[in-house]
Amino acid sequence: MSELQMLPAWLDAAGAALAGSAPPAPTLVGAGPPAPTLEGAMPGLARAQSMAPLQRLQRLQRSGLAECGGAGEPVHLAWRRFLRGRGSSVLVIDATGFDVRERGTAAVLAGAPWLLAEGVLIAIGLRDSRKVELRLPAELTGREAAFLNTVDAIRKLAQVATPGRQIEVQRDSRPGCWGEGRPADASRLVHTPETWCRIALLFAGAPFLDRGLDPDLDASLLTLRRGMTRRGLVELRRDGNLGRQIDEWGGGTEVQGQGQGRDAVLVFDDGLGGFLPLSASDLACDPLSLSAAGIVPAPSTLMVLAEGVCVVKQARRAVYRHWQLADGEEASVRGVLARAARLIAEITLGRGEVAHLAAIDAVAMELATLGLAAAWPLGSSLRYYREQWESHIRRESCPEGVCLERRAAPCHGTCPANIDIPTFMAHLGHGDHRSTIEVIRRDNPLPLTCGLVCPAPCESACVRGSHDGAVFIRPMKARAAELCLADGGYPKPTLSPDTGKRVGIVGSGPSSLTAGYYLRTLGHDVEIHEAQEFAGGMLRYGIPAYRNPPDLLEKEIDQIRALGVRIFTSAPVASVEEFRKGYDAVFLGLGTQKARLLPIEGAHLPFVLGGIDFLREARSGEPVRVGPRVVVIGGGNVAIDVALTALRQGATHVDLTSLEKRREMPASPGEIELAVAEGVQLHPGWGPLRFEEEGVAVFQFCERVKDETGRFDPKFDADRLLELEADHVILATGQGTDLACLEGSGVENTRGFIVADPKTKMTKVPGVFAGGDGQHGPRTAVEAIRSGKIAAASIDAFLRGAALDAAAAAAAAVGLPVRRAEVTPLPVLADDRTHLRRASMPERSVEETVGEGNYVKIEEGLTEAMAHDEARRCLRCDLCIGCGLCMVACSEMGVEALRMADTSAGRLAHFDFLRPAERCIGCGACTQVCPTGAISLEDRDGVRRTIITGTVVREQPLLRCSDCGAPTQTPAHREFVRLRLPDHMAVLLDRELCPSCARRRADRPAARRIETPVIGEERA
Ligand code: SF4
Ligand code: SF4
Repeated sequence: MSELQMLPAWLDAAGAALAGSAPPAPTLVGAGPPAPTLEGAMPGLARAQSMAPLQRLQRLQRSGLAECGGAGEPVHLAWRRFLRGRGSSVLVIDATGFDVRERGTAAVLAGAPWLLAEGVLIAIGLRDSRKVELRLPAELTGREAAFLNTVDAIRKLAQVATPGRQIEVQRDSRPGCWGEGRPADASRLVHTPETWCRIALLFAGAPFLDRGLDPDLDASLLTLRRGMTRRGLVELRRDGNLGRQIDEWGGGTEVQGQGQGRDAVLVFDDGLGGFLPLSASDLACDPLSLSAAGIVPAPSTLMVLAEGVCVVKQARRAVYRHWQLADGEEASVRGVLARAARLIAEITLGRGEVAHLAAIDAVAMELATLGLAAAWPLGSSLRYYREQWESHIRRESCPEGVCLERRAAPCHGTCPANIDIPTFMAHLGHGDHRSTIEVIRRDNPLPLTCGLVCPAPCESACVRGSHDGAVFIRPMKARAAELCLADGGYPKPTLSPDTGKRVGIVGSGPSSLTAGYYLRTLGHDVEIHEAQEFAGGMLRYGIPAYRNPPDLLEKEIDQIRALGVRIFTSAPVASVEEFRKGYDAVFLGLGTQKARLLPIEGAHLPFVLGGIDFLREARSGEPVRVGPRVVVIGGGNVAIDVALTALRQGATHVDLTSLEKRREMPASPGEIELAVAEGVQLHPGWGPLRFEEEGVAVFQFCERVKDETGRFDPKFDADRLLELEADHVILATGQGTDLACLEGSGVENTRGFIVADPKTKMTKVPGVFAGGDGQHGPRTAVEAIRSGKIAAASIDAFLRGAALDAAAAAAAAVGLPVRRAEVTPLPVLADDRTHLRRASMPERSVEETVGEGNYVKIEEGLTEAMAHDEARRCLRCDLCIGCGLCMVACSEMGVEALRMADTSAGRLAHFDFLRPAERCIGCGACTQVCPTGAISLEDRDGVRRTIITGTVVREQPLLRCSDCGAPTQTPAHREFVRLRLPDHMAVLLDRELCPSCARRRADRPAARRIETPVIGEERA
């Protein structure tokens, strides 16, 4: 069911009723035929205009209408404050404030925009508000038309109904938060869009009721989100029971609380409004009952999280958000919110002590006393989930295992091979390419190949990606590898003593090379058997030479040979059963070297080729020739490789068709752009229907590729056809494995791929392991490397006689990110760290790279300067874990020098290195709380430097103790303290003593202190 279908009756009916009416004049965008009278079009406004301001207020008071959302304050109180206000007034219609359900706001605007306009116009006449400020969300999720109509309506109608008003629209105003001060401001009248609609309905009264609108105003809109069986807008009846309404809204929750005292968690307003166990939802929904339960009195959204969620972590997120929303509020408000955020962060980082529990209780009480909305998430979590809080503090454990750990940098955790990226980037930035390669090869033995061909999932996770472009990680590996190869080869890893065990490997693709490398370093004797003339498997025969030149690949494979791994080429293994007799363990890295043809008419015709067969032949001794017109079918990276290879194998015109629309094509966007640049004609959204003998490929239009559940289930429009002439059609639609060698070995396969235990990679046959594309299906090279690495760990455990679960544990351990070293951050200027942009890869021009037989490498690689800059752009997320403690500690001090940004990687990050350059006073509050030392103070040569992961954000001179001459504090810090001390104490600062000299003076006998003129005698 769509959201709009779930719109409550009043909103639906109001929208419908108003769609047939129009305001008196002028005619508005998107309005229906003009209505003859104001009463007809806007009965609420017409009636309000006949009332004095006080009468309007009484009407509101009698109705008991409460704010829809947030604190649920009775609307008449806000109007009363506004009426009593003095001086010039600004009428603010604020939809950005606390409304955490932008989609709900958009639905209100779409369902009844006129109603919103009418509510606002009723209030415009209240006071002499010369200025009306509309604060509306920047993003209205596709309801732009409704939004613009509403804005236009308010502007024009205000001129008609109450001339001379200035209407100002802000579309991305700073979000505020309920309870954080602004609503109590008498110069402003702030309501949510829904409340404005309710006001219009209330004043309209009978005329609206005649049109069938719901007379019951004692309800508000609630957006049901994740965890509810049905999602969208519903009415929360204030006189109803919460639990029963959850059931009525359509099947209740998807997540049910079960047994053992654990329970699903109701999360209000994205956590900002508090948490409630599902079992405690037997309560009324009026604001008083909800606030008595510790929940936001008028929630806007509701979601349900499964049992097992860490509520402490959720509370931390919510309190942080409240602190962020209170930006610009007075220092006392900021201070208490910052204290709450700091205490929770310390607890979730495992630094909580018993005193923290008392402190957090006290701060929750303080928030409630001050009427701050952060009291809801904090108070309700402490009330209902106290056990979780106690567990975090007393047992130093997060019951759900999601807090209390230092997570790897997002890039590091996302890399399938788990390369410690920030560490190698720092090594390369320091100019140490040998250490760079050492670090990479702890997790991936093929840094050069990956540096050339990897789709770099690490870059999609890079924290900097949500700011100004991810760090360009991929080519940094290639650069370090090339420098090393030019410098005598990769550094040799330490080999364990020989074990005397022999491992035989079938195939020499990325999983086999990886398994071989790590098994050799573990002391085993390794032999690799490759059926083709050259080693490398799919790296050589599946990836075109313009991306991965064979000479470079061979050099990299030589680095593995150099450790003693023997690779036999042109040595096919006919029978695994026979092969395993010569070894203590066997690894099958068979790859997917067979193209899968399509079961459609004409697929057997001689001009129809398999994509992977074509790529292999193109890289073999006697390359295949195609064209001049070639049609490639497929939307992945292999299809792009086939298309670009066809252009180098004789084709002059290449069409590429895919089932998916262009933005849905699985190929990397950069690859697609490259294909277009080389002249490949894209035809996204077409599926092959048949191939005709005359050299025609016929396609039908693909309406959808997947069904609602995401399952592959293409649907076609058989009436929309596309015909393409083709001398050759090349299918890049799937690959399979040649499993003939498994005959009689007992190794199982399913749907053409080898079956192996996903944890240990061992097949049903003891001692025979499998990985790579032949086991998990066609994936990227780095995923094959991961599986080879995991297989090596469990083969090693097997060879050492360990039990299967120990083998699984060993394999699991290598599948986790491990920090390889702690490298000193690069010294980077604040301006550079903030503004350096991602490098763009230097590439040879199309003229230089295209043409028959031209496989010159397209990428030229990063220059030394570019690589250095990329290393400097890295934010060192291994050091700064994004906990935000430094920022809230600084806020608690009242300095507010640090501003971290929320990132798509789900953590905070320092991007703004310039703000502390202006504001840091060098007090050290941040360094006291930082759990990792990522932010530090350094005193040298009479100067204090504040440093964030290598970037000196501020340098300030240090004052010295007037007694001993030791450095004390910065002038800015002293001034900051002075302003906060009473005058009689502030003078003490002028004596500028270090703590120990101040203590020594305080310890002197009182008589001597009194009798002796301090300054004079001490100096004498
Ligand atoms: S900024 Fe650096 S450490 Fe952080 S995710 Fe990006 S590459 Fe990794
Ligand atoms: S600098 Fe330290 S305290 Fe600040 S966010 Fe990073 S790790 Fe946390």
